[in-house]
Amino acid sequence: MTNDDIRIGVFVCHCGTNIGGILDVPSLADYARTLPNVTYSADNLYTCSEVGLTDIKENIKEHKLNRVIVASCSPRTHEPLFRSICQEAGINPYLFEMVNIRDQDSWVHMKEPEKGTEKAKDLIRMSVHKAALLEPLERVKVAITHSAVIIGGGISGMTAALNLGNQGFKIYLIEKEPELGGLLKSLNKVFPSNEDASKLLESREIIESHDNIYVYKSSIIENITGFVGNYKVIIKQNKKNIDIDAGVIIVATGAIPLSPEGYFGYDNKNIISQLDLESLLKNDQVKANNITMILCVGCRNEERGYCSNICCMNAIKNAMLIIEKNSNAHITILFRDIQTPGTVYENYYRKARELGILFINYLPEKPPVIKKDVVDVYSDLLNQDIKIPQDLVVLSTPLIANEDSEVLAKMLKVPLGENKFYLEAHVKLRPVDFSTDGVYVCGSAHWPADIAESTSQANAAASRASTILWRDHLEVEGSTAEVETELCIGCEACIRICPYNAITKDEETDTAIVNKVMCKGCGLCGASCPKNAIIIHHFTSDQIRAEIFTYGGEI
Ligand code: SF4
Ligand code: SF4
Repeated sequence: MTNDDIRIGVFVCHCGTNIGGILDVPSLADYARTLPNVTYSADNLYTCSEVGLTDIKENIKEHKLNRVIVASCSPRTHEPLFRSICQEAGINPYLFEMVNIRDQDSWVHMKEPEKGTEKAKDLIRMSVHKAALLEPLERVKVAITHSAVIIGGGISGMTAALNLGNQGFKIYLIEKEPELGGLLKSLNKVFPSNEDASKLLESREIIESHDNIYVYKSSIIENITGFVGNYKVIIKQNKKNIDIDAGVIIVATGAIPLSPEGYFGYDNKNIISQLDLESLLKNDQVKANNITMILCVGCRNEERGYCSNICCMNAIKNAMLIIEKNSNAHITILFRDIQTPGTVYENYYRKARELGILFINYLPEKPPVIKKDVVDVYSDLLNQDIKIPQDLVVLSTPLIANEDSEVLAKMLKVPLGENKFYLEAHVKLRPVDFSTDGVYVCGSAHWPADIAESTSQANAAASRASTILWRDHLEVEGSTAEVETELCIGCEACIRICPYNAITKDEETDTAIVNKVMCKGCGLCGASCPKNAIIIHHFTSDQIRAEIFTYGGEI
């Protein structure tokens, strides 16, 4: 194709008033029309609407466009949609370019609309010059193993296993403990239904006798290799290694309660944890009448800055259960803040107060002091010290990340947050996905979650996993790296820097090779190669140069 054959269409979006309320959008469409190879340009109120998308398709046909540019919002959310429209109209989806004139322009230059409009012209001009050099790319097709490995056999893992197993997929449920159930095994009842935790554990029998679910107890993950659709997991059980092939992996490893050792004189006798109390309640062994519960023990401090999300409701539940059994009991809950979100939990909290449970707010800088038979606490509200008679003190500690989370995260090539919980790909757009394709997270492995949250996240993760498992094959990104082997000197700089472990060395030729399925096209290897031996397709050196050198003038 010669330069004269290139016919670019530019569609500039108002995004309602997001862009159109600040930038002069019609003048941007007029400007685009003056640029080289631009055959057609127009502005739309909402380019992503049915009307906007139909307009793109019709104009591709009418004006024989072979390159399309949309100047609008973020490629992160809308590029796949516009690419698919190009494909429907017969254009290779990689002959599409998106210019972000909203997040990177109208939103940041709200107070200087004229300068913002000039900047948008620059951005559109850069894109037009790059678009002229775009090349069609093909997506790689990958076959899929129709099975899943679920790591962790607590409530989240069991829920995900049942969900996918009932859909007919082969599930390998891996649990490091000798029994399924996770933390549920230690609980008496669950809030807000106050149902026996043992009732929820009944699903263990269904799982263990399920035709599609293979349960490996007392087993740990030894190694994980591969990529979406084709993971190879090695587990160790009784000193024996077992190889498993899986298309997807769900991380449901849960979390563990922080031991209260060293806090408030914990002695597991008169000063106990909520978990200890669960066990006393289970066995009907709570004899004390004056019970004080202290919340936020060992969290929301310098060492652990977070709120553990479930402790307030758990303490309220246990306090109510005690009162139900012993109407003479006096229970005081010392809290920093009460977290009972939503109407159901708020009503639960209200009921606790109606039952006579006393809630007193304490300040972290003046924590309660436990003395013999009494707890001293300063109430900020009353501006006075209060003495609360006690014959049992119960400490609420947070859930903390599993010790082995770092090792597993490395094997899975997924990130952890600052508190060592697993970090999702995007808090709103991909809440149960990891950025590594085909790996999902749910329950307290991600963040302390109660039963309701854990089960809904587990179903969400199973549902995301099934979007892969139901397919015959996967198509993965065509915009990836490629090594020009004749230039490669085998220095391994690219192998060391690739965050997705997508590059290996061909020992025979002593050159690097890219696994296109694992490559995300991030460009790090291309920027690091001392020999310029790596082409990043869709972001080639020529294409980037064309954008840069047009900035502020013609190329
Ligand atoms: Fe808004 Fe993007 Fe849709 Fe335009 S394409 S209307 S910018 S969301
Ligand atoms: Fe790895 Fe990024 Fe290079 Fe792909 S482009 S091989 S993901 S460094």
